[in-house]
Amino acid sequence: MTLAQAVVAGAEPAELARLDVPTTYRAAHLRKDEVGTFDQDEPDKDVRRTLHVGEVPMPELAADEVLIAVMASAINYNTVWSAMFEPIPTFAFLERFGRTDPRHDLPTHVLGSDAAGVVVRTGGAVRRWRVGDRVVTSPAYVDGEDPVVQHDGMLAADLRAWGFETNFGGLADFAVVKATQLLPKPRHLTWEEAACNMLCASTAYRMLVGERGARMKQGDVVLLWGATGGLGGYGVQLVLGGGGIPVGVVSSPEKAELLRRMGCPHVIDRGQFDDLADEKAWRRLGAEVRRLVGEDPAIVFEHTGRETFGASVYVARRGGSVVTCGSSSGYAHEYDNRHLWMKLKRIIGSHGANYQECHEVNRLISLGLLQPTLSAVYPLTGAADAARAVQLNQHVGKVGVLALAPGEGLGVEDRELRERVGEDRLRLFR
Ligand code: NDP
Repeated sequence: MTLAQAVVAGAEPAELARLDVPTTYRAAHLRKDEVGTFDQDEPDKDVRRTLHVGEVPMPELAADEVLIAVMASAINYNTVWSAMFEPIPTFAFLERFGRTDPRHDLPTHVLGSDAAGVVVRTGGAVRRWRVGDRVVTSPAYVDGEDPVVQHDGMLAADLRAWGFETNFGGLADFAVVKATQLLPKPRHLTWEEAACNMLCASTAYRMLVGERGARMKQGDVVLLWGATGGLGGYGVQLVLGGGGIPVGVVSSPEKAELLRRMGCPHVIDRGQFDDLADEKAWRRLGAEVRRLVGEDPAIVFEHTGRETFGASVYVARRGGSVVTCGSSSGYAHEYDNRHLWMKLKRIIGSHGANYQECHEVNRLISLGLLQPTLSAVYPLTGAADAARAVQLNQHVGKVGVLALAPGEGLGVEDRELRERVGEDRLRLFR
């Protein structure tokens, strides 16, 4: 029996520890010799051309690392960026990282920043995790020897997004993570439900709730772009859970309907604003928010970038905040600074979430207070199609990928909690 088969069969930890780690494993990866695939101005950089699934070499494990047998993973937008080689090829990250850890600088880059699975090996310095533990991963790959990590891991100089700026990511049958990325798998979720949350949920948590984010309080009006997307689906839930008033922006009646089913009281279809770069459209958006809620947003949840940023700065209320973690439509933003300074607004940059924030989010999920937003599930062999769906904005919530899990619906341990939360809430995005 192979190690992978033993994991799938639910073998005891002693059996997992006894079986050999394979020398190669199946993974969704990019190839360095394909970096020039797309012309700079190519209109459709189709990720299916560059994202491959095949065998890659198994790395050695460092003392502070853990090898996970991955049951399921999920697509994040960074996999789309990586496979387009935008804004720069991720092999540049791997080369730089390779100067201090040569294992990562390879002709293949295994992608994926989310995973749920079973620990099958621990490095010599790992104390809190054991072979056989069922885990989910947080995406921040941080050197624990950097003093600032004890203040806020996201300020670490060598912070890396796992599976984007490091190799050996989660879209694979095995993955290598630091022990400080591990969290216990929520026991009431399936593998694919557990695997889809951490990156987006924790990023949204830090943006809205975290000490260094917008620090939402009860009653705050929060405008969320992409409100049924990866980040937005958790953002809306966190606003509702924290007593705020979400105003969700989406681009279709189907998404608007999903938002209402989530309990979002105010929904805006961005289709009605033809050009959000234009101040007239900002004014109309602001008027629409006032019409719906009666006041301007205290917080604008931004990740959409160039096409929306000017509007976001404009519609935030006097003294309000625009909190941003991304730029899907372009990262060179333009906005009218008069609206910012004259009305004492703030722009807050946010990135990922530190280990403690990930722990807080995992706790909410494990208590059944924050639900997965899984909408579709692909096999690992279909990872490129899954990433393509996200690239084309054809999805809602999160798109899952099964790795070693032989099918959907497996991995649930706490059926009682699952029943209490309810299948309808757990499957709202399906
Ligand atoms: P998704 O693709 O799942 O969702 C994004 C949503 O944004 C879509 O559902 C879409 O909703 C909306 N959208 C897309 N383009 C536009 C546009 N031009 N104008 C307005 N709305 C738009 O992605 P994620 O939510 O997972 O990620 C969003 C961004 O945030 C990405 O750029 C990603 O890289 C970044 N990110 C950054 C993180 C960090 O730690 N720094 C972590 C996670 C994500 P609709 O069409 O319905 O309006």
